[in-house]
Amino acid sequence: MRVYADNAATTPMSAAAKQALVDATERLWGNPSSLHTEGQIAKEALEDARARVARLLGADPKEIYFTGGGSEADNQAIVSCARLGARSGKKHIVSTAFEHHAVLHTLKKLEKEGYEVTLVGVGERGVVCPEEIRAALRPDTCLVTVMYANNEIGTVQPISEIGAICREAGVFFHTDAVQAFGHVPVNVVTDNVDLLSLAAHKFHGPKGVGVLYAKRRIPLTNLIEGGAQERGKRGGTENLPAILSMVAAMEEACANLAQNAAYVSGLRDTLICELSKIPHSRLNGDREKRVPGTVNFCFEGIEGESLLLHLDFEGIAASSGSACTSGSLDPSHVLLALGLPHEVAHGSLRLSLSHYNTAEEVAHIVKVVPQVVTYLRNMSPMWEDLETGKKPHII
Ligand SMILES: *Cc1c(COP(=O)(O)O)cnc(C)c1O
Repeated sequence: MRVYADNAATTPMSAAAKQALVDATERLWGNPSSLHTEGQIAKEALEDARARVARLLGADPKEIYFTGGGSEADNQAIVSCARLGARSGKKHIVSTAFEHHAVLHTLKKLEKEGYEVTLVGVGERGVVCPEEIRAALRPDTCLVTVMYANNEIGTVQPISEIGAICREAGVFFHTDAVQAFGHVPVNVVTDNVDLLSLAAHKFHGPKGVGVLYAKRRIPLTNLIEGGAQERGKRGGTENLPAILSMVAAMEEACANLAQNAAYVSGLRDTLICELSKIPHSRLNGDREKRVPGTVNFCFEGIEGESLLLHLDFEGIAASSGSACTSGSLDPSHVLLALGLPHEVAHGSLRLSLSHYNTAEEVAHIVKVVPQVVTYLRNMSPMWEDLETGKKPHII
């Protein structure tokens, strides 16, 4: 039995998304910039896709840009607002300590260029307090960027409240909604956002394609110079099959959102209930304010990487946190932002489910994880120190 429980890293494509990819590859291979019939048919499909994305997000088609994924959308959103701010001497950006690296590393780059960045804390529950965002604003703040849902622990942020604060202060507000879209209702109007990023492969669409929503009055900075594609803001021939496949996945995710959310959160609650019974374990992040599919646990006295390898051997694909940081020995910046000590943060496990998972699969997970945790603890010198009282238990 193979159980895929790493949907926060990437998702398998849905049947509709695969079909749309094949159909578009066969029928719509023309270049949308070409003036002949093949090109114009592709152009029409591209603009139809843009209108459909706009409708799903509550946006205008002119505010939708297709990108090469979530990271690119994050980079372009942040750099654009930074450049715009600099024009009027505003070079301060507010964000949080547990953003995705696509955001944090872009902010680091801007700091080297002379921008100032304030990272607001997220508390031990991993939920940003809107008033802390308000308190961090300065007269020279040009952008606030806060993720909609965290990719490691799954907590959902009070986006529309933060957006309202930014609007009142006249500061642009970007949200990385990559982990939220398709799992919680996302709408740029009710969420009070000015810019928003999506990645198709996190909602059963293809990899390497995403969306950047940017409100009409925000002129974007090009990251890729080239032709006049995407209203001159992203050069390069559009990947129309991937875009149409993404739109198929988006429509499917939105149409089934309530039903999938109810089903997946039921599976997730079983995980939380059963894994919490493991002694010296802890659920990371707020119990309630979370996306339907993602849980993150720490188990004291063990090391995340060995847990993952043993789970993989038992048929379970999971993660210790972000796919991007696994392989490095540093503990997760997200778990550290919650205030967990290094040694506890090292023993983390992220399980992220989708509507393709079954109750039998979850039953397999809750049977295997406690066995592997016990097995690893029995071999662990760290655990021995804790059990003999040489070191105190932290959780
Ligand atoms: C996966 C992810 C990204 C990056 O998206 P890519 O399409 O892989 O570039 C950005 N932000 C969050 C929160 C993510 O989970």
